[in-house]
Amino acid sequence: MTEDMEKIVSLCKRRGFVYPNSEIYGGFANAWDYGPLGVELKNNIKNLWWKFFVQDREDIVGIDGGILMNPKIWEASGHTKEFFDLLVECKNCHKRFRADQVEKACPICGGAFTEPKKFNLMFKTFVGPIESESHKAYLRPETAQAIFVNFKNVLNSTSLKLPFGIAQIGKAFRNEITPGNFIFRTREFEQMEIEWFIKPPKTEKEWQTEFENWLKEMKKWLNFIGIKKENYSVREHSKEELSHYSKRTCDIEYKFPFGTKELYGLAYRTDFDLSRHQEFSGVDLTYFDEETKERYIPHVIEPTFGVDRTFLAILIDSYTEEKLENKDTRVVLKLDPKLAPYKVAVFPLLANKENLIKKAKEVFSLLKEKFTTFWDDRGNIGKRYRYQDEIGTPFCITIDFQTIEDDTVTLRDRDTMKQIRINIKELSEELEKKIYGG
Ligand code: ATP
Repeated sequence: MTEDMEKIVSLCKRRGFVYPNSEIYGGFANAWDYGPLGVELKNNIKNLWWKFFVQDREDIVGIDGGILMNPKIWEASGHTKEFFDLLVECKNCHKRFRADQVEKACPICGGAFTEPKKFNLMFKTFVGPIESESHKAYLRPETAQAIFVNFKNVLNSTSLKLPFGIAQIGKAFRNEITPGNFIFRTREFEQMEIEWFIKPPKTEKEWQTEFENWLKEMKKWLNFIGIKKENYSVREHSKEELSHYSKRTCDIEYKFPFGTKELYGLAYRTDFDLSRHQEFSGVDLTYFDEETKERYIPHVIEPTFGVDRTFLAILIDSYTEEKLENKDTRVVLKLDPKLAPYKVAVFPLLANKENLIKKAKEVFSLLKEKFTTFWDDRGNIGKRYRYQDEIGTPFCITIDFQTIEDDTVTLRDRDTMKQIRINIKELSEELEKKIYGG
């Protein structure tokens, strides 16, 4: 692991963002759990995404489908046949690798590889008490299919007209051959996906315009959550690389410390999925166009976002080390305030002065109604600031003796470390502005 990644992984464990899964049992290969701060950050990512793409728009609605679904879905979608990686095994040390990720010889012992074998990435399980082929089911490897199979339901229960989108956030499972790089590639992860349904395009320009629009929307989202422009780029898939359903795919790649790799994907899936589900289910999945009086199967543009990769990119993007005048190093997570697990921390200057504690508790209760607020009366103020800097809390408030006299407190900014004095009455509004803008 690179030094930068080690710092992030260690901060995550130390402060409660991410823990190794099943740690007291020696862990569970490349699996991770989100801790108290991690779950806040992850929920903030998902809630902001939902607001940005679903609630703030009139042309996108959400669903929450099952992880287990009728296994025929995966035949129709092509996953039982096509969703595989090529696996090679070293004849000498028997380590297994993805064929596209290694050269001719084993990177560990130099041994020769077996011929590549197809390895399907879907997790299999059985539904009900009988473990037979006819009871076999899969854990979904993507959230998209629940959207396609509910297309008709959404159409019939809403007044949406093309173009429109259906969004979903949820877990997906892939039996990855080589998981790793912390939460970058795991076997259980979360996706945020949109299927954007359009009229069958008459010209290439029509779908390319929609595609480019979505690329812009995805960049707007990255900007909204504060990912630096210089740290991501767009990579076009070559013809050979395209998935079985796609006519054009772009990855938005992020400069991770372990290499520039896929953060998000954008694909033009044509009418592949709906056509296949119509064929396999025997149910009519066409759309009736009131304007032209035509019936057709819509085409689809799919922007897809990994929650865990967003989480990791945000941590990497915001992790900063600053040398202070006294030569100490200050570690700061310069998170966009909207994303921060705690928006504000409240400190009484001293922990043993009853009047300070009482006043500080009042401020704490006031702010807690609106913001995730941290209470801290341990150690000295300097230490409390360091702690909040490390977990990315954008604002700290200290209640001191002057507060008792004139109801003003100090408000300290995480990034500039500047402090201003402000009246308690104005705090809530001021913080609202600083955190959410406007
Ligand atoms: P990769 O090439 O990295 O295996 P992919 O192209 O198979 O990824 P998609 O099928 O496009 O990935 O999945 C959509 C999104 O889901 C990805 O952009 C990524 O953010 C996330 N994702 C996919 N696989 C994983 C995984 N194993 N762990 C964490 N996130 C993942």
